[in-house]
Amino acid sequence: MDVARCTADGIVYTVELFEGRGDSFVSQYRRLLACPECGGPAFYRRESTKGQAACFGARPHALKCSLGAAEGRRAGTMGPGEQESIQPIERILVDFNYGAHEEVNPDDPGQVVDPNGRGRRFTPGTGRRQSQKHRRLSTLLKNLIYSPAFRNSEQLIALPKGEYRVKELFVEFPSVSETMVGSYRGFWGMVSDAAMYPKGNESLWLNSGGRDAVSVVVDADLGEAFQKRYPIFDPEKFAGSYVLVFGELRLSQKNKLYIAVKVLDQISLLLDDQQ
Ligand SMILES: [Zn+2]
Repeated sequence: MDVARCTADGIVYTVELFEGRGDSFVSQYRRLLACPECGGPAFYRRESTKGQAACFGARPHALKCSLGAAEGRRAGTMGPGEQESIQPIERILVDFNYGAHEEVNPDDPGQVVDPNGRGRRFTPGTGRRQSQKHRRLSTLLKNLIYSPAFRNSEQLIALPKGEYRVKELFVEFPSVSETMVGSYRGFWGMVSDAAMYPKGNESLWLNSGGRDAVSVVVDADLGEAFQKRYPIFDPEKFAGSYVLVFGELRLSQKNKLYIAVKVLDQISLLLDDQQ
């Protein structure tokens, strides 16, 4: 889990922000954490000597909690008195391949396991270790919705197009402007209303506000596959849902800002009744 809600102050923290508040804050408030989605009791775990990054988790999540699905099993836990010697650089890898495989150890699939269960010491000067975790679009979307700290974080995120900072990659709809035309981003936000257009070859338009606001256009050719994943037949029902779409911002001849969705893996929707 990338974010956790502190029940004392209501803030949804990233690990980075939580640790940034200092040791005494961490030791006091780590007992007052909850999953932002299901409210399950959550914990904070320090970075381990084996180089596994610090994390949040919850035990247990509610049965259908999607943030629980992203939580991998971790090999070993920290014993008392173990020291954290390095800060690994953790990158998020965006998993566009929805549901195509099981996650075994999403934290670091290539990690060598020490049979003695003790981590190797990493000496300073040998370079910072890199670890990585896979995240689906649906999980990223929830992180964005629940946590301003995640939205503004410096966390690295890797895409086929290159590597970005979370705070630079994701753009919420109200911040989308013509200056971004041609740029590839993760655009996200609430859907104000939706419509099928034009008649005869109908694409699904997910609008984000007024006439000048950006829209997400789901290509007519995707219609069947899209409806299989999101079985909604009345466009009205999209109002109030959240969407995350990876793509290039475009400007139509009629000066309409839009992002075209031609591949199902580019988009994730959180329908109103799933929140
Ligand atoms: Zn949960």
